[in-house]
Amino acid sequence: MTKPRVAIFDFACCEGCQLQIVNLEEEILDLIGTVDVVEWREAMSEQSHDYDIAIIEGSITRLEDEKRIEIIRSRAKILIALGACATIGGVNKLKNNFSITDVKSCVYGKHADMPHLDTYYTKAIDEIVPVDFKVHGCPINGREFAAIVRALLLGKKPFVPDYPVCVECKALENVCRWEYNEPCLGPIIRAGCEAKCPSAGYRCFGCRGYVDHPNVDAAREVIDKYGLSLDDLRTRMVLFGSKQGPTL
Ligand code: SF4
Ligand code: SF4
Ligand code: SF4
Repeated sequence: MTKPRVAIFDFACCEGCQLQIVNLEEEILDLIGTVDVVEWREAMSEQSHDYDIAIIEGSITRLEDEKRIEIIRSRAKILIALGACATIGGVNKLKNNFSITDVKSCVYGKHADMPHLDTYYTKAIDEIVPVDFKVHGCPINGREFAAIVRALLLGKKPFVPDYPVCVECKALENVCRWEYNEPCLGPIIRAGCEAKCPSAGYRCFGCRGYVDHPNVDAAREVIDKYGLSLDDLRTRMVLFGSKQGPTL
């Protein structure tokens, strides 16, 4: 039987999600045995235009990225967005809160106008092309990635939780961060990380993105119960919840 041909591409990102895949060690060898990896800049020098599954890490921050992702999409039967940069724009979307001129001069100083440093407001992959599956998180959980790919190879729909982090957090019997007066985004963020941050004593910052149908009323009740304001919560949502930038 012919193995599915897989290519992994990166756009604007820190490559931490690809590192999570590499860190799977023995499990990645099993996984790689079931597919034919034809392009993966981080791990091999070969390139190919012929692939079934494209795995995309990173967000879109330049016009030339749009053209590149459109070409990749046209070649792939299945496109998977890998990690928060790709699924929701991730921390890269922080720059959408400022003017691009200010962002460029802050980062590049007097060199900001050089053409190869051109950039625009950050977009998640599905703001440019259709995405078939998303592997959430910053970084992703390598085992969740492996489970999603395995399900796809078996022709099954991968399981991705559509309930909030609080469900996993309460099952682990963590003391709620709100009890420490820390606005935790758990009530509105997609589970699947096993409540990693609250379990380590931190509030959830929202790296897995919002659940499809966030229970806004329940979130408001929590805010009221602890005497905080919506603005307290909004400031916590900026890191992974910044919106689309203005149309240029
Ligand atoms: S989602 Fe996080 S870990 Fe993954 S590439 Fe983006 S910044 Fe890096
Ligand atoms: S709000 Fe945060 S700390 Fe509290 S239960 Fe939900 S995920 Fe856990
Ligand atoms: S608790 Fe929140 S910020 Fe932490 S890993 Fe889970 S979704 Fe991401």
